[in-house]
Amino acid sequence: MENAVSSSTEERSHKAQKVLERMSKKLNRQMVGSLAACVHCGMCTDSCHYVLSNPDDPTYAPAYKADRIRKLFKRHFDWTGRVLPWWVGAKSIYTDEELEELKDIVFGKCTNCRRCSINCPMGVDFATFNRMARGLLVSVGVMPEGVAVVSKDQWEIGNQMGVLKEEYIDTLEWMSEELSDELNDPSAVIPIDKMDADIVYSINPREVKYDPRTIADAAKIFYLAGENWTMPSEGWDMTNFGLFSGDDDLGGAVALRLYEKVSELRGKKLVISECGHGYRSTKCEGPNWAAHTVPFEMESSVLTMLRYIKEGRIKVDKSKNKEPVTFHDSCNNARSCGLFEEPRELLKLVVEDFREMYPNRSENYCCTGGGGAMSMSEYTPRRLKSAKVKADQLSATGAKVVVTSCHNCVDGLTDLIRHYKLGMGVSQLVNLVANAIVVPEQVAVPEAVETEVPKEAVAEERALENYKILVVDDEPDILTFYSTLLEDNGAQVIQASDGDTALALARSEKPDLITLDLSMPGTDGGEVFESLRKDPELSNIRVCIITGKPELRRLIYDREVQEPEGFLDKPVDDETLLLNVRKILEVGDKPGE
Ligand code: SF4
Ligand code: SF4
Repeated sequence: MENAVSSSTEERSHKAQKVLERMSKKLNRQMVGSLAACVHCGMCTDSCHYVLSNPDDPTYAPAYKADRIRKLFKRHFDWTGRVLPWWVGAKSIYTDEELEELKDIVFGKCTNCRRCSINCPMGVDFATFNRMARGLLVSVGVMPEGVAVVSKDQWEIGNQMGVLKEEYIDTLEWMSEELSDELNDPSAVIPIDKMDADIVYSINPREVKYDPRTIADAAKIFYLAGENWTMPSEGWDMTNFGLFSGDDDLGGAVALRLYEKVSELRGKKLVISECGHGYRSTKCEGPNWAAHTVPFEMESSVLTMLRYIKEGRIKVDKSKNKEPVTFHDSCNNARSCGLFEEPRELLKLVVEDFREMYPNRSENYCCTGGGGAMSMSEYTPRRLKSAKVKADQLSATGAKVVVTSCHNCVDGLTDLIRHYKLGMGVSQLVNLVANAIVVPEQVAVPEAVETEVPKEAVAEERALENYKILVVDDEPDILTFYSTLLEDNGAQVIQASDGDTALALARSEKPDLITLDLSMPGTDGGEVFESLRKDPELSNIRVCIITGKPELRRLIYDREVQEPEGFLDKPVDDETLLLNVRKILEVGDKPGE
């Protein structure tokens, strides 16, 4: 599109000038159609969860938010705005402060969920040009800190949670051992970099970092289905922060890494684990961003699991999942990629009591953590307030568990469920399928071992018996939650709610592990961590940082001391906390066990 920006004679900051120049290159037919077509009918207003949860604040209305971007388009790229700017509300942008205000809207007041898009009679897709505006701001360095940190990790380390290759491989090996033990079958392992596999399985780094059980569950399903499958040692991240940040270059580079790795392994099909934005980025958007013709098939693991059951490759017993469950459609899976019926079909095969949530499918409300919102901690209070409509929708189902096919939704839902005290669990289909699966005779756990299960279960419950753990957090409910969970699993727990007490207790008690919050009044967690590492008597204490501000990760890793043994982002559920504590403490490897 012709660039009309250079004709302006008015003073403009360097960044604002760049934003306008780059905007001209981003405008395509679809974008211009959406920018020009709004008739301000207001029919999209009640589509937005921000509006529904904040009915007294008109600045959350999709059309209002869209007009903050539209006025730039009109002023510079539409003849009506050039000739009669005051008539059509056209206005340029001049200062860095105005860019910050735009940042607050495009990152902090919209999750790009596209619910307003499908409710617009004029076909206006606000989320598409909101993403474009995000990309323009990112290109001049105006973005929430969390977006900068995550993007940097995905550019430099190759995945958006900064998981190092050793950590990834260690986790796969750990889950391999768990699977062999569970099935009492040494050949039940996770194959890494196997050539010519029928399926290459890609995952979300959250699975390595916080939820390795989903990897073991998927491996169990592939193994029992007799699949010829593998996981890549590198280029395994199917998530793509480019979708959230609006950075098409990042989107293309990340997608290409995965495509090239699958091709290098001569894989026949790429299966994408349950992640809405990962699925949309890898299957739908990635080939365009990367300008790459993908030479193999791509499939959501939901379809893979459903096919295994339909073809009789695995058998399931739904009576193993008795609790009432409901299903949350991820915006990216459902509204943007049309995955509506398959997850429901699969769910009904593996649970006894499925309860539909209303509205659902393309009309479902966002988990409120979409669009990268979970990485932008400055907007957390706003996000949780806007989650009210989602909380009401969930509790109306009467379900005890909400199932979703998206790791991002797992985090968003977990956080709002805790905030609104709904008392529900969150699960994914892979967990329910693995739980319902019937282990056939030839790999069934031998009778003699089965009789030992109760004893093992008891031992499992007391797995942390020989460990002393210092829990540090200034939020009383979190302190109680972590402490109770660890004590229930046998650990001796001591507590501190501020940094100075934590250091004093570390010196006097010499715990095996410290779970450490970062943001605390007084001496903060970062200072506590550095003091521990620099004290020769305390430097060997293992530390798991648990923070609600993931953007602080870089500050911790930039300190010139040995890195923490674990790093978790809040909210943390009980399974994630236990798995990570056990992993850090190498439970089972301790002398004498
Ligand atoms: S429904 Fe469509 S045309 Fe109406 S205000 Fe919303 S975006 Fe504009
Ligand atoms: S895309 Fe979603 S969050 Fe954004 S304005 Fe539309 S309905 Fe609201």
